[in-house]
Amino acid sequence: MIFLGERERAAKIIRKLKAKYPNTRYYLNFSSPLELLAATILSAQARDELVNSVTPKLFKKYKSAPDYANLPVSQLEKDIKRVNFFRNKAKAIQNACKMLIKQYGGKVPDTMEELIQLPGIGRKSANAILINAFNKVEGIVVDTHVIRLSLRLGFTRDYDPEKIERDLMKLIPKINWKPFPWLMKDHGRAICVPKRPKCPECVVNELCPKVGV
Ligand code: SF4
Repeated sequence: MIFLGERERAAKIIRKLKAKYPNTRYYLNFSSPLELLAATILSAQARDELVNSVTPKLFKKYKSAPDYANLPVSQLEKDIKRVNFFRNKAKAIQNACKMLIKQYGGKVPDTMEELIQLPGIGRKSANAILINAFNKVEGIVVDTHVIRLSLRLGFTRDYDPEKIERDLMKLIPKINWKPFPWLMKDHGRAICVPKRPKCPECVVNELCPKVGV
């Protein structure tokens, strides 16, 4: 265990993870804010691979908010039925699109305050949309990998996503807010897995307090 200032330690960990995962990238496929909005709703408690396997057909079929809003919800359910909670998610996508039409001229808004008003969109999804679709970096996406690894790495002692985000924003330079969750996901899948993390193989082993491991 190497003892450094916490910001310095975090910076070193991020540098090492960037070197380990040079091709790290955002994990949901999309080509417009509307597509990302639908994908983030689908991704709640679902694997990215599953979402990415469902969205190509979906995005080909529905290209605008009215496309999603003006169809029987049962049709949308059918289109996404391979994804868990497909009924709730179909309803959320459709209701979000109805709100886009009513309040934002059919466009996805680009502020946190507006995004979190949309059905199915919480702070995590809003951050993901702002950062990845609009390149507006105002926070850090806190997903299940970010929570688990941030606790183990000693970046936070909290379990509440909003408090974790605040802790991370103090610790991590803004330039790394965007790729941080991508790196946590890559590392959380390859090495720092939920059960029995592979610490002896880990590139940040010497910098990690391994809290709770
Ligand atoms: S040393 Fe272990 S607990 Fe720490 S990040 Fe690596 S795998 Fe996870």
